[in-house]
Amino acid sequence: MLQPGGTIGILGGGQLGRMLAIAAAQLGYRTHIYTPERDSVAAEVAAEVTVAPFTDPLALGRFAQACDVLTFEFENIPTGQLAFLADRLAPSLRALETAQDRIKEKRFAESVGGRPAPFMPVESADDLTRAVERIGTPGILKTARDGYDGKGQWRIASARDADAVRLPHTTCVYEGLVQFDAEFSVILVRGRDGEVRFWDSPENRHVDGILSQSLLPAPAAIAAQVEPARALAQRIADGLGYVGVLTCEFFATPQGPVCNEMAPRVHNSGHWTIEGAATSQFENHLRAVTGLPLGLPQALGVWAMVNLVGTPPPLGTLASLSGAHVHMYGKAPRPSRKVGHVTLCTVDEGYLDARLAELLHVVGIETGKTARA
Ligand code: AMP
Repeated sequence: MLQPGGTIGILGGGQLGRMLAIAAAQLGYRTHIYTPERDSVAAEVAAEVTVAPFTDPLALGRFAQACDVLTFEFENIPTGQLAFLADRLAPSLRALETAQDRIKEKRFAESVGGRPAPFMPVESADDLTRAVERIGTPGILKTARDGYDGKGQWRIASARDADAVRLPHTTCVYEGLVQFDAEFSVILVRGRDGEVRFWDSPENRHVDGILSQSLLPAPAAIAAQVEPARALAQRIADGLGYVGVLTCEFFATPQGPVCNEMAPRVHNSGHWTIEGAATSQFENHLRAVTGLPLGLPQALGVWAMVNLVGTPPPLGTLASLSGAHVHMYGKAPRPSRKVGHVTLCTVDEGYLDARLAELLHVVGIETGKTARA
């Protein structure tokens, strides 16, 4: 068990690392961020930073020596140089490697009884033609690695679309488009002793492939599917000998939950837990990796989390919204970039809906679907 004053090394320097570092400070730990970026928003709130590429073995070695335990906040880290720190890394290198590759991830989920969208690996134009013939359209072509927030994805509406696609020079996967009622995530924490705890599952709404809102409690179409989805997420975590927070994203369909992807880390759809649960995903991730007892994940009310993407409204406007917890990540605004989030909490669903409509209006999200189902 890591004592206060101990140092947690975090690979990756984005907002997830920033929120982990804030939670670590609360427990009396120091954090050391390892990032290739000079302007890391996690380093701003950490005790130490190493700025070096993930492929630099000397810098990685010095970083590992300066830390008591190691974790990561970003899954697209090249793993080639990480083998020598594998025994101190949580979650494990195997979990990271599985989640980095959509094909490996889907096969692993299938091996423990999960049902992903129909998929086929694609290395060439011929593979894509065959995949479209076998699976049909509409579908989505995705790069197997390095995609996030809808990047590295192409919608394929017809065989003609498939012919017109310029394939990237990397392995891809073609997936059938799932007709779903809603999207949700299972967020769990698994301790070093194998104990697993779950947070409530929010409904996740995306705009242009980017998470826009996470809403709790989720509607009935999701609530009915949480149990089998949790059972699958737990089999994935157990199968990988997982330590830390694991997030699995699902589509709720009339035939039951279809698993989309997993993130071997704290997740945007769990940001509501900072104010909304007895223990946040960030704190419980740290509790798991440092060997502390896990905290209670219970939700403390009804919640809505809205992402700030691109250029956010003025801070003063957001702060003036009743019941709003504003989180700014310190990032320069850029189109499609997550620069912060706002969490709303009350004990009354009707009141929450009114506040949410107001927040979405301020943020400029006009989905026509603002009220919760
Ligand atoms: P991903 O990067 O795989 O999480 O995809 C981002 C978003 O695109 C998902 O949250 C869905 O809204 C949508 N999406 C991705 N894959 C599929 C699929 N096979 N069927 C339907 N929608 C999908």
